[in-house]
Amino acid sequence: MEIKRIGVVGSGVMGAGVAHDFSRNGYQVTLVDVEAHALENARSEIEKSVRFHSFFSKEGGGGDPKEILSRITFTLDGDSLAEADYLIENITEKWALKEPLYLKLDSFCTDDVIFAANTSAIPITRIGGVTNRADRVIGIHFMNPVPLKDTVEVIRGEHTSEETVTATRDLLETLGKESVVVNDAPGFVSNRILMLTVNEAAWVLQDRVAAPEQVDRIFKKCFGHKMGPLETADLIGLDTVLLTLEVLFESYKDSKFRPCPLLVRMVDAGYSGRKSGRGFYTYPA
Ligand code: NAD
Repeated sequence: MEIKRIGVVGSGVMGAGVAHDFSRNGYQVTLVDVEAHALENARSEIEKSVRFHSFFSKEGGGGDPKEILSRITFTLDGDSLAEADYLIENITEKWALKEPLYLKLDSFCTDDVIFAANTSAIPITRIGGVTNRADRVIGIHFMNPVPLKDTVEVIRGEHTSEETVTATRDLLETLGKESVVVNDAPGFVSNRILMLTVNEAAWVLQDRVAAPEQVDRIFKKCFGHKMGPLETADLIGLDTVLLTLEVLFESYKDSKFRPCPLLVRMVDAGYSGRKSGRGFYTYPA
């Protein structure tokens, strides 16, 4: 099937980035959320991001914001996803929200549509299991910010077919992205490891061993990482980090994933990182 229209569910940090990346590569995009303010925010984030790319890219190649936005339909109408040829789900990392959404999507999307879950930790096999298309359910763990990252983690659920893996790889290739295909387990490869580091960095702060800048500086200067764990957590969103740790903790029943109380307190206080203007660091509006 030729893929022309991408359905993107959830227009937060990731949904906005996914919609932007597909649109700038010529796809029509239907971007759906349940919150009008999330859609408005996504529109302005995409516009900002296009201008930012134009400014920093050597070729000035960020594209025309008007043209990129014109290919995206921002809507609260979930039923409009029935027109999509390929679907990417990016809603809040809570099974209690994802499960009813997949049940509903499965009831009205045509049989050949692939569902790609951009989840941080929820097993793809569990998602496939609530649909009647487990062979056409796959994980795409996009990296943030989506338009700037050229590699993604693709997760093959227990019943994901080879056709689905190939169609997904081919689609991602049209965005210039390389797929690293892995097997299914809570947190996959990336977040099973990354979340331990991020959480432990919060414990280091809570124990007053070092300041956030020092923690991140050690990872950047000593290990050559582009970003330290606390900067990374702020970029992901501390609410999403906490939800991901909760999924890992529940899934493995292993205390090594217990969320640091400092992280919980910060999320309770509304300090969810870059998107709220404050996390381990503060960010100008
Ligand atoms: P976010 O909190 O920024 O956005 C989630 C959006 O989903 C919100 O706008 C919310 O209103 C919307 N939503 C909730 N229920 C919905 C429903 N039923 N239908 C439509 N929209 C709904 O979260 P995010 O950071 O964009 O993360 C989204 C998903 O991507 C999560 O599963 C997360 O684990 C995963 N993820 C996040 C990152 C990251 O760096 N933030 C990276 C990879 C994957």
